[in-house]
Amino acid sequence: MSNIASIEQIQAQVKGFDIPQTLAFLVQQFPGKVTFSSSFSYEDQVITHDILANKLPVSIFTLDTGRMFPETYSVWSSTLNRYNQPIKAYYPDAIHLEQFIEQKGPNSFYESIDNRKSCCHIRKVEPLKRALAGNEVWVTGLRAEHSAARHDLPQFEWDPVNNIIKYHPILYWTTEEVKEYVRKFNIPYNPLHDRGFVSIGCAPCTRAIKPGEDFRAGRWWWEDADKKECGLHEHEKVEELTEK
Ligand code: SF4
Repeated sequence: MSNIASIEQIQAQVKGFDIPQTLAFLVQQFPGKVTFSSSFSYEDQVITHDILANKLPVSIFTLDTGRMFPETYSVWSSTLNRYNQPIKAYYPDAIHLEQFIEQKGPNSFYESIDNRKSCCHIRKVEPLKRALAGNEVWVTGLRAEHSAARHDLPQFEWDPVNNIIKYHPILYWTTEEVKEYVRKFNIPYNPLHDRGFVSIGCAPCTRAIKPGEDFRAGRWWWEDADKKECGLHEHEKVEELTEK
């Protein structure tokens, strides 16, 4: 099950379904092979809630880069307390990380794009490949509002890099719809969202944005806008984990 025709079939079959119904259809089609990547963002918390409140057998994982905000670890803990369900964490390969830090230092991502991409590769891209291995569907919290490159994205797409079907359930939700959903179900969320952080990634590489600024201006702000990519979602200019 890895071609465009199959994706079109899925799209036709889930027409009119809400998110839990669509996820239930996917786990029926791909038992044990539907996984969701969470960075504990607003968006990801909506999807986590839909999975865990409906007891859907979708595995949830996060990529712990080791450089996340304390607030992110707090909302991770709150999520475990709220739903009492496991969230698997994937970590960078220790040997590669040790070598990289020894050669380049802990904050070399500020010095060159190559260093930044190497850091993202070790801390995110390689662990992501391990997390996705063996799965057939990757559920993400991407939203079109977050990047011009996402505006034409379909809700289902084939990811040729990771050989997996991607499903973006809340791709076309607005920020207000996400906030309203979080409020309605009292879902734990990262308090950094209340302080101007739209996209929350690693602490040294993420900052709050001002009203009117582009949603992604808070990521790798010291680099040229057209060089902001780290390889998690290859079609995008700017990436977060789970980053949504
Ligand atoms: Fe490293 Fe920054 Fe990429 Fe995180 S976002 S993996 S700290 S370069």
